[in-house]
Amino acid sequence: MFYRIIFFILSFISPILYASEIATIIEKNQESTWRVTYKINKPIKKLVFKRTPDNSRVKRWKPDNPHYVINFDKHNSQESITRKDGRPFTEVKIKLTPTYTPLPKEYAPFSPFSDGGMLLHSGRFFACASTCADNTNAWPIAIKAPFNHIIVDGKVYKNNVQWIGKDSGQKVYVGHEAPIEDAHFVSLIDGRLPPTLKKHIEKDLPKLMDFFADKMGTLDYRPALFASFSETNDGRYGHQGGTLSDQIFLHWYGEKAIEKVNSESIFWFFSHEVAHLYQKQGSDIENPSEAWLHEGAAEFLAGVASANVANNTSLLSEKIVTAQRHCLEGLKQEPSYIRAVKSNSRLHYNCGLVLINEINHALVKENKQLDIFDTWQSFNQQIESGKPASVATFLNGIQPHLSSELVNSMTQLSQSTEFDAYAFFQTLNVASKDKTL
Ligand SMILES: [Zn+2]
Repeated sequence: MFYRIIFFILSFISPILYASEIATIIEKNQESTWRVTYKINKPIKKLVFKRTPDNSRVKRWKPDNPHYVINFDKHNSQESITRKDGRPFTEVKIKLTPTYTPLPKEYAPFSPFSDGGMLLHSGRFFACASTCADNTNAWPIAIKAPFNHIIVDGKVYKNNVQWIGKDSGQKVYVGHEAPIEDAHFVSLIDGRLPPTLKKHIEKDLPKLMDFFADKMGTLDYRPALFASFSETNDGRYGHQGGTLSDQIFLHWYGEKAIEKVNSESIFWFFSHEVAHLYQKQGSDIENPSEAWLHEGAAEFLAGVASANVANNTSLLSEKIVTAQRHCLEGLKQEPSYIRAVKSNSRLHYNCGLVLINEINHALVKENKQLDIFDTWQSFNQQIESGKPASVATFLNGIQPHLSSELVNSMTQLSQSTEFDAYAFFQTLNVASKDKTL
């Protein structure tokens, strides 16, 4: 019934943005099984997903009805659901695998908490009929789960909730725990995380928030912080973090990931994510090949924070030298940045850090009053006034301070497959430039 109401409201408030008329219902039942149901108001032949970072839905999503199948079209990197006989349908129900799985350049759909709670990524479920038009930006979602705390947009609901998803989606907490509210965050921190790690979360994150607020302006909201841990049964371990508009999330998986806590790398990990919060427009850049801008700047800012907040003054220099090496290694076989980064998204971090260092160095050398913090603030202002989130907008205003070769190379890098990024990164002598802070 509720999805009919959503359809009605949507057709009224957003007739253009909302054309696909698909309602998404995510349910967890008493047996701890997670399912998603898509209900469509008109028969369709194919349901496609807004984002397909890899083919893991094919492996991890199982239609309840054997007449349905999840397909992966390699050519378009597109996952979809159809009936095996090709006939149209108006509803499909799928059983999900609710374990942590890292996805390339995308947030994990499920980050389990060790007490049975779950952090879901709503964007993983965004789907359209046949094709997702560029201007589609309204996805009705509902969650039904026997829990007292379902947190959507910072509000707590019990047992069920419905809302209209937009942009990249958000993280939604579903569980028993009530969030803790303090001056910096509304947070949920997994009880299984070791005390040393919890101490870092409680001490480092507020300090970083204060540092970036001082440099880049305070946030006009209090972000949510989710820190979770899940065991693995195949020996996998690691950690991954992310930010989505007003949320920051950190997940550790596998016992090995929490056995030994390395203060230096934990601090860098936290700084990188907190820096994203202060970048304000999230990582939503129009051209995916330009993601080096946000990732490189977050890496650079993590280095500045390490020096200023954790007193680790040599770390940034070391990271820049290593980053150039990794950047070159990644481009050696495939000198087109656009092509290379498609299969190696770490290049955005490594090559991005090198580029942001070049920019910051050029700015500081010429004018001691101007640095990456000011530049980012002016970038934010330009985006607020309607300019596209792009490298071109970022370079607006600082272009006179940079060499034309640098500006030209940064522009070509993510726009032309002909550009030899390997040769360009080889010309940069980072070792002589990394001591300007
Ligand atoms: Zn990042």
